[in-house]
Amino acid sequence: MIFTVVLVLIFVLAVVGIFAYQKIYNPGRLCKTCYRVVPDKIPSCPYCDTEIEW
Ligand SMILES: [Zn+2]
Repeated sequence: MIFTVVLVLIFVLAVVGIFAYQKIYNPGRLCKTCYRVVPDKIPSCPYCDTEIEW
């Protein structure tokens, strides 16, 4: 019984952890030049055309 509870707890923590990770990294990145949020995985900033290093 305790084993099951611990297992569920670990699972919930993993899901929350993944969710928090995506919450932090999914909205995009900040452009280093104009400090606007730009979509993830794009080669250059759409606002100021600066190349973005990942
Ligand atoms: Zn920019």
